[in-house]
Amino acid sequence: MLQIEDTIKTFLSTPENNSLSPHWGFRAFDQPLVGYADGDDPLFTAIKNDIGTFYQTPREAFRQAFPGTSPKHIGVIAWILPHTERTRRAHRSMTDMPSLNWSLARLFGENVNENLRRHVVTALTASGLRALAPTLAPEWTRAQSPRYGFASTWSERHTAFVCGLGTFGLSDGLITAKGKAIRVGSVIADCTVTPTPRPYTHHQEYCLRTHGVDCKACIKRCPAHAITPSGHDKEQCKTYIRGSTRPYVEEQQLGVPVNSCGLCQTGIPCEAGIPKLVQRRLKLSRNQTASCPQ
Ligand code: SF4
Ligand code: SF4
Repeated sequence: MLQIEDTIKTFLSTPENNSLSPHWGFRAFDQPLVGYADGDDPLFTAIKNDIGTFYQTPREAFRQAFPGTSPKHIGVIAWILPHTERTRRAHRSMTDMPSLNWSLARLFGENVNENLRRHVVTALTASGLRALAPTLAPEWTRAQSPRYGFASTWSERHTAFVCGLGTFGLSDGLITAKGKAIRVGSVIADCTVTPTPRPYTHHQEYCLRTHGVDCKACIKRCPAHAITPSGHDKEQCKTYIRGSTRPYVEEQQLGVPVNSCGLCQTGIPCEAGIPKLVQRRLKLSRNQTASCPQ
């Protein structure tokens, strides 16, 4: 059986696959975390019920891609791509606008992530499985959630949450063993996997505020005042990005508009790992990465 974690790590260890820019020699991402979930895990249905009927469970996404099929098992594979220390350091020093490194990672780094999704699908297909990356499917679309405002038919962060890779922070970002300065990807296939244990029961378990600490770090980092003790205002965040950082990236940095911001992902206690106090409280083991598909 294909060792999918090796496939992902080998892809990213090739410099031309993991480049921050076509012109620079720096890598986009550090070593990934990989996690797995059974596609019929009831948590996927619970998330759908919470977000809206448009949201797809893995089985629904699979059926849409391969009509008329109903495999016995659906496996979900998710990964975390941590920004490098170099990118995080550059971004930490910014207050209103994104650093050049962060914008490069948002543009070219997401290309790395897209190519990785395609690569994993190709590798799974070559091993005789049917596979897809839901966010690359032509049917993937944005939608309006009755409870949460703008959303989409497949969320990489929610998928990674089910795959045991992390929990949400106050600003909606996923706090993982490699922190919140990350990008996320996933694929699904008609295979069995060994689900990664979820060492949490609360959707914000790795956020300091869940443990009674009055952490305001991400609140203070947001120049748009889009984060408050009540949570993340998606509309305010989007307005700031569309009106300020996106044109800034086009005019001052890359010559093309990019939805780059993420100031709330650096300069905070959960930037590069689960906050130590939370680790102590939860007695987390150092490595929460996953086992490979069976
Ligand atoms: S910076 Fe503090 S409040 Fe914000 S997500 Fe991280 S731990 Fe939670
Ligand atoms: S992405 Fe930017 S605007 Fe949005 S919440 Fe984070 S810091 Fe604020």
